[in-house]
Order: sequence, then C-alpha cells, then structure tokens
Amino acid sequence: MTTIPRIAIIGGGPGGLMLARLLHVRGVAATVFERDVHADERPQGGSLDLHADTGQRAMLAAGLECEFLAEARPEDQGDRLYDADGTLLFDRDGAGDDRPEIDRTALRRILLQSLPSGTVRWASGVEAIRPCADGRYEVDTGGLVETFDVVVGADGAWSRVRSLLSTARPAYEGVTMVELGFDTQRHPDVDSLVGSGKMFAVGDNHILVGQRNGHGHIRGYAGVRMSETAAQALGRLPTEGIRAEVLRAFTGWAPSLLGLIERGDILAVRPLYALPIGHHWTTRPGLTILGDAAHLMSPFGGEGVNLALADAVDLADALLSGEGWPAVERCEAAIAERAIPAAEGAAEGLQATVSTGGVASVLEHYQSRVGDLAAWEANR
Ligand SMILES: Cc1cc2nc3c(=O)[nH]c(=O)nc-3n(C[C@H](O)[C@H](O)[C@H](O)COP(=O)(O)OP(=O)(O)OC[C@H]3O[C@@H](n4cnc5c(N)ncnc54)[C@H](O)[C@@H]3O)c2cc1C
Repeated sequence: MTTIPRIAIIGGGPGGLMLARLLHVRGVAATVFERDVHADERPQGGSLDLHADTGQRAMLAAGLECEFLAEARPEDQGDRLYDADGTLLFDRDGAGDDRPEIDRTALRRILLQSLPSGTVRWASGVEAIRPCADGRYEVDTGGLVETFDVVVGADGAWSRVRSLLSTARPAYEGVTMVELGFDTQRHPDVDSLVGSGKMFAVGDNHILVGQRNGHGHIRGYAGVRMSETAAQALGRLPTEGIRAEVLRAFTGWAPSLLGLIERGDILAVRPLYALPIGHHWTTRPGLTILGDAAHLMSPFGGEGVNLALADAVDLADALLSGEGWPAVERCEAAIAERAIPAAEGAAEGLQATVSTGGVASVLEHYQSRVGDLAAWEANR
C-alpha cells in the first residue's frame, strides 16, 4: 500500500479501540463502528488483569501507561478458594504479582479519551460488509454505506466479519455464568468473603466467583453446568426468576456463600462459548479479524482481553509496515498461533473447575502457581 489506507474497525471493544489508538499515534485515522448507542449503554463486565507481555505491552505501545497506572489496582491480585461448605482452603494476597487489575469501564474510557472525537461512530451496528469490484469493501450500517480499503473485525464473539473469512461458529461450552453486582458498603459480608482480589467457591459442577472491582464494587458470577436450551430459557426469565433458579441449583451450599446469590443485583446471564481451538481463517486482502472475533475462548484463562490488546499491537504494525497484505497475512497466522495455548488453558480450566472433582483441581492449580511464583521471585 503506497497511500494511507482508509480503515474501518468494526467494534469498539478493547481490541478495536486499541487498534484505533495505535493507528492514531502513528498518524493514521480509522473509523470505529460500534453498535452501542453510547459508552455506558450496558454494563461492560468485571475487572480485568492485564499481563506484562500482552495487555500491559499494548498500553505502553499506545502511550497510555500513565493512564493505565492511574486506574490499575495492583493491590487486588489476591486469590481465595472456598469449598461448597464455606471452608477457606487457600488465601493469598498476591500484592507483589505483576497482573494489576483494571475495571473494564475504566479501560474503555482511557482508550476512548485517547482518540480524536468522532473516531467512534456510536449506534452504528454494521449489518453487512460487501466486496467492491476494485478490491475495497462497503460497510453497511443499515442504510448508510461507506467504502474502505481495509475492514478489521473487532466485533467479538458473533463477528460478522469473521463469517466472510471462516465457516467456524462458536460452540456452547456447557456452562452458564449469571453475573451479579454488589456495593461493598451495602454488603460488608460479601466484601470480607472476597478478600483482596478474587474468590472462587467450587462444588460439584458449580462455581461462585467474587471479584473485587474499583470504586467499592464487587462483581460476582454464579456458574452452573446446563444445556444451551436451559441457558437460553434462564436468560428469558425475569430477574427474580433467574435468582430462584440459581438458588435452586446451589441447594445445600453454605449460607455464607448463598448470600452472594440472594443479595446480588442480577446483571446478565452469560452462556460461555468458544471457537474451535486453533481457529484460523483464509486470508482475504482488505479484510481481517482480531480478539474474540478470531479466537473466542472461555474466561477461565483470563487471557481474552490480553490477547485482543496484543493482536491490536501486531496488526497495527503489520498494516503500517509498508509491505502490503503479506505482512497482515503473517500477522494473522501469528495471532491464530499465539491464541492456541491460551485457548487450551481456558478449555481445560473450565472443564476442570466446573466438574465433579472441581475444588481439588483448583486447589492443586493454586498451590502449583504459588510454587511457580516462588521460583520466579528467587530467580529475579
Ligand atoms: C463473564 C466473562 C468474564 C471475562 N473475564 C475476563 C477476564 O477476567 N480477563 C480477560 O482477559 N478476559 C475476560 N473475558 C473475555 C474478554 O471479555 C474478551 O476476550 C474481550 O472483551 C475481547 O475483546 P474484543 O475487543 O475482541 O471483543 P468485545 O469486547 O466483545 O468487543 C466487541 C465490540 O464489538 C461491538 N459489535 C459487535 N458486533 C457489532 C456490529 N455488527 N457492528 C458494530 N459493533 C459491533 C460490540 O458491541 C462490542 O463493543 C471475560 C468474558 C466473559 C464473558
């Protein structure tokens, strides 16, 4: 490409916004099409830990390290594990770890504020992308049609862009998470249960998660193994119907843990889906994907957002390399390859945690991680 390409990014999640920022700092304007009507239209989900070689590397490349450090919460990296009786099996404060947490809303705000106004077109759900005879692509937002040299699908799990490159579809992973919200002042019991970071309570095919967020909030998840049809039916129930069903699923659990389900604000029902591990796609000049659109996986590895941010760094480099599409093609292969161990870890983590032998395998995982961290500390 000798002239600066006109770039459309479909999706204003972490991956799409990071790509727009990285292009902007190198003097290339992109248009981000986002179907949300505004930045706060829907809850963005819980806290995310950014890893050094992926998420943190991206913030540095974007020139947003200070903004990240101002919002990051290194003090919230602790882990606790309970069994279904409410017995605390593992407790580690994790304060010295290198995976600081940041609220998803804060991350989105930092990225949005780093872009020139007008970069993100809100309320612009893309309905179709069509190839033109000259090799460019039309982006159709339901009436308004614009033409771009490059279209990047950062449009998440159900990506429309992906469907032009691959026949793969996300498959249901067998587990659904009901998302809960707490204000720590109103729920001091939940506050002390969670500790300084994240708690898991694991029982036979069930899991409760409590995750400390910024500004006195805690995000919870009640995970249950159920069929996709049951998950869809659960999602259609009114809030109190969802609560009653989830409480029924956790019958016999300790009252201290059931408080999470009884008193949390019910925010969403999230069935977990994943693309096939090793998903790759046929390269098609002018059209590509990143983040969940490329390698959706369950959140049990804590890698999804980190990979989306790292993909954006690599794709920005490839798009601006001056080598044309072969550089993007190499980047696509690298993105797909890098996601494989994370996707394997996420699938194994989900299957091991929400299982009949759940708590023992999670305890073993935490104990081995302590060993790894001790070795890492000793070698620093
Ligand atoms: C319950 C849960 C917990 C998670 N916890 C973690 C965690 O702790 N750590 C972690 O690393 N990851 C976690 N993840 C995964 C993480 O959320 C994703 O991997 C990450 O958000 C992917 O970023 P993305 O930019 O690729 O896609 P998304 O964040 O999905 O963003 C896609 C954007 O595209 C927009 N969009 C979609 N279709 C269109 C369209 N047709 N037109 C216009 N806009 C469109 C959407 O509105 C959205 O804003 C979790 C996921 C879930 C479900």
